[in-house]
Amino acid sequence: MSDIAEKSKYALPAGLPWLLLSWYDRNARPLPWRRDRDPYHVWISEVMLQQTGVEAVKKYYGRFLEAFPTVGALANAEEQALLKLWEGLGYYTRAKNLQKAARLIVREYGGRFPGSYEAIAALPGIGPYTAGAIASICFNLPTPAVDGNVIRVITRIAGISDTVTEAMKKRIADALREIFPPERRGDFTQSLMELGAVVCVPNGPPKCDICPAKALCRAKKDGTAPSLPVKAPKADKRRESHTVFILTCENKLALRRRGGGGLLAGLWELPNVAGRLSDTDAVATAAGWGVEPAALIKSAERRHVFTHVRWDMTCYHIRCRKQAPDFVWATPDELQKAYPLPTAFKKCLDAADLSAS
Ligand code: SF4
Repeated sequence: MSDIAEKSKYALPAGLPWLLLSWYDRNARPLPWRRDRDPYHVWISEVMLQQTGVEAVKKYYGRFLEAFPTVGALANAEEQALLKLWEGLGYYTRAKNLQKAARLIVREYGGRFPGSYEAIAALPGIGPYTAGAIASICFNLPTPAVDGNVIRVITRIAGISDTVTEAMKKRIADALREIFPPERRGDFTQSLMELGAVVCVPNGPPKCDICPAKALCRAKKDGTAPSLPVKAPKADKRRESHTVFILTCENKLALRRRGGGGLLAGLWELPNVAGRLSDTDAVATAAGWGVEPAALIKSAERRHVFTHVRWDMTCYHIRCRKQAPDFVWATPDELQKAYPLPTAFKKCLDAADLSAS
């Protein structure tokens, strides 16, 4: 297809921004990160929202800003305190990258958030979507933020049946750039996100009856909305088996810190080994760590799915006689307050009856 034909396939109706903006003015949800356009606030919220729903993020967002109210406070935070606040949100690299970026902002920009798309996009952990969102919402720049919600809205409005790829996202960004309303670029970006979140929804049928774009929408006219966008088939996740140990001794639980590289690096974990061990082998492994197993109380199977890998976990709760020095031994209260434990291990912990230990 020629460039001109390709461009016209992605062309968006010139009247779209004003339809969406007048709808957004009346219907935008009063979310905490929309109270102002402080780039620090928008940045934190966008990073949290990358893998987590709005309701959960509301709680984390408030707590996070209370603990780290400025870029400087985040730059100076203890890593363990930061990870503890992030506990349950998952994808901990996001939190570590936030701190790396905060330190860079302090070092290179005197703590003031940079105001150009290029400088924002160069910060650790910030991709084109987040950079586009911050630059348009906070600095009114013509920088589209093309995420799953926006792809769904635009492919339906324009009737685009190309498979979603990076090149296709770029074409959508180019098409949006053509119609950005100069005075309200940030609001237009937010109106697209909002429409995708509450009207042209990801799960279930689109709510075309209440959609401000219904008169312009190609997919509504053609009845093709349910089949758009066309997604590339997902690669199968790698599967791994692990045996996870809940070792308890005198109301304390054995923890250890994960090594510096790879999945969940730097976080705390329950002791574990690769593969699925039998009861007997699990007790023998625990004995090898010097904890002097007294009783195997309970075992359970749990599963946790990460972005690229699925863990099938066999969890053994073993009561021990000795607090071996290779582990940190924490009370439930200490665990709650000081040790960020990834959700995968919490699932194992939930399977154990700690009152029996
Ligand atoms: S009219 Fe329907 S399909 Fe089209 S954008 Fe609105 S909700 Fe989505």
